[in-house]
Formats: sequence, C-alpha cells, structure tokens
Amino acid sequence: MSTALLTAFTCGWMTLPMSFFLDGEDGKIRCPATAYLIDHPKGLAIFDTGLGTRFERPVGTPYQSGADLESDALIGSRLTAIGVDPSAVKWIINSHLHTDHAGGNRDLPNATVVVQAREWEYAFAGEDKAYHLPEYDTGQPVLKVHGEHDLFGDGAVMVFPSPGHTPGHQCARVMTPTGVAVLAADCCNLRRSLDELKLPDHCFDTDQYLATLKMLRARERKGERIFFGHDPDFWAQVPQNKPLDLAART
Ligand SMILES: [Zn+2]
Repeated sequence: MSTALLTAFTCGWMTLPMSFFLDGEDGKIRCPATAYLIDHPKGLAIFDTGLGTRFERPVGTPYQSGADLESDALIGSRLTAIGVDPSAVKWIINSHLHTDHAGGNRDLPNATVVVQAREWEYAFAGEDKAYHLPEYDTGQPVLKVHGEHDLFGDGAVMVFPSPGHTPGHQCARVMTPTGVAVLAADCCNLRRSLDELKLPDHCFDTDQYLATLKMLRARERKGERIFFGHDPDFWAQVPQNKPLDLAART
C-alpha cells in the first residue's frame, strides 16, 4: 500500500467567538490556524497554508489583533525550519479559500492549487468576507476538481468534498505508515463538533454541514483519525514539525 508522511504546523492563531464553532455558546476561543506537509514519493503537498502576511508581525513583538501570525510561522518559514525548500512543494490542497486556510499560498511559488471547482467559483463571487482575493488570485496553476480526487493516483492522498462550511469545502484522507488521517479543516472545527454533532452559528448550508459531520463520524468509527480544524485542546496533543506517528497518539 502506498503511504505518505504527514507533518503538522501551526501557521498563526485566531481569537474568535465560541459561537463561530458551537452555536449558542458564550465566550471566545483562541484557536490555531493549521497546515500540513504531505510527503509522498512522487512529490510534496501542503494541506492548507494558514494565515498570510496581512496578519504578520515580527517574532517577539506584542500580540495585537484577533488574527495573529509571528513571521516565523508563515508556511514557507515553517518548511524552511525543518529543511524543506518551499519552492519544492508541488501541490497545495486548499480545504477552502478562507483567509486562515489560503493565506500562505503565495509562499509556495511553484505549487499547483488543488481546489473544488465549486469553491473556486464561490470565492470569486464576493459574497463572503472571509475570503481575501489577493491570497488566492495569485496566478499559480489551479487544478479545479469535481468531487473526489486521487492526488498521486495510488490512493495515498484522496481529496473528497465536505460541503457546508462553504459550498466547495474539501478534506484529505492521508494513508500514513502508522494509520489513516482525515484532515477535516472547517467542516469539523472541534472534537465537540463531531461528538455532539453541533453546528456553528453560521455556515453556507446547515443541512450539508450536518451531513458532512455524520460522514466524518462514520469514518472515525472505521478507525480513520479525524484532525479537527481549529481545536486548541486537540492541537496541543499533536506533535509538530516532524512526521506524525498515528499509532503513538492517544
Ligand atoms: Zn478556518
């Protein structure tokens, strides 16, 4: 069976109303913007690129705003720090094109963007302020997919639709040597979203969102490991900057 190594990175932090993730809940949550390196024998891919330079501040200077990126947390800097050349990345899989998921696309200049065609169209429609056009209107090649897509043709990295948060949201299933990971991004922000089938206070389509959560729940019951999009408690348990050992995770 073909496999790929998976490495996690934090590419910025955001402070958001808790109700953005769990409808009806009070308070705020400080949550990570996440990105992953997928190292496959046929090339390198990145799943989501975190926050971009519009939120950047120099390392060590005070935290200033709700979306916050120390300059060493840009995806290109994260890669360089572990000895990977950002210009060697062949593919960017964007779960969707919101600013905390496509912010670092420009930092990977030779990558082709893999996105659902429906997401691409919606991002250019200008109906949702969470999209920031300069971050994805970059001139990079774009592979617009319709439904499932087997990135390397061997089943190791399968992209599949997970609509609801946005119309063209997608996940990636990665077969690692130590287990199967599903990178959920914003179709499942928190562990509680899945356990309680609880929706955010706003999304593109609530019926689709719920159907996607149920699909993820079925995958989890099959033994696939769900990587939640913005869960700080979950994220604290995920080792970063080195290939994940899914068998070792609690
Ligand atoms: Zn997000």
